Amino acid sequence: MRTKFIAGNWKMYTSGATARQLAAAIVAGVAPSPRVRVGVFPPFSYLQAVAEVVRGSPVQLGGQNCYCEVEGAFTGEVSPAMLLDVGCQWVILGHSERRHKLGETDEFINRKVKAALQAGLQVIVCIGETLEERQAGQVEAVFTRQIGGSLAGITAEQMGRVVLAYEPVWAIGTGHIATPEQAQTAHRWIREHVAKLWGRKTADALTIQYGGSAKPENVKTLLVQPDVDGALVGGASLKADQFLAIIGLA
Ligand code: PEP
Repeated sequence: MRTKFIAGNWKMYTSGATARQLAAAIVAGVAPSPRVRVGVFPPFSYLQAVAEVVRGSPVQLGGQNCYCEVEGAFTGEVSPAMLLDVGCQWVILGHSERRHKLGETDEFINRKVKAALQAGLQVIVCIGETLEERQAGQVEAVFTRQIGGSLAGITAEQMGRVVLAYEPVWAIGTGHIATPEQAQTAHRWIREHVAKLWGRKTADALTIQYGGSAKPENVKTLLVQPDVDGALVGGASLKADQFLAIIGLA
């Protein structure tokens, strides 16, 4: 059985003080469990502070992005090694806000995925269609393009350190969560596609999170779907009680 993975994407929210408080409340509410993994993804500026709070707890730490080079004259960028250095095990790459608001392409995301894996990080790679793409019947074409592009050249062995997050763009931050049927259909399709590209064993072991307006009151029916292996949570991860409730459901 796959372990569920609940991850909190704090986006560009919190201050030093509130990041520490939020992390401390999550640490206090999370017991070690063989059934669920928990991760938090604070802004870069608070990673070190949160690392000190989560150290020795079951709560894992990740960055919300990284660059694709080891080091160099890349003003404003953060390398995978820097994330590891401050205590991160994870990085989120290809989030739809970076794809659509900052113009990141699959080719660019792929370079980052390779660099992050090479450095030793585990990676959450986000994929998902816009409303227009869904209405035009292009959901599977989008998955094919994003998986093929973002994960080009990644080996089956490396896929063991990759988590996919299915995040329909129309569900992120909108309050419109996917239905359990929509989520299960998408996750199943993604898993079968991964099986074609990397083999059955890799596909069966792959964690596929759902993301998009997940809240304690609406996510339970998604988390019980056979191919939904957890959630990438934005807004509700900024409130410890809500995030802990989602972990409890998982
Ligand atoms: C996200 O940021 O990945 C996300 C799913 O956000 P929200 O839960 O706020 O929709």
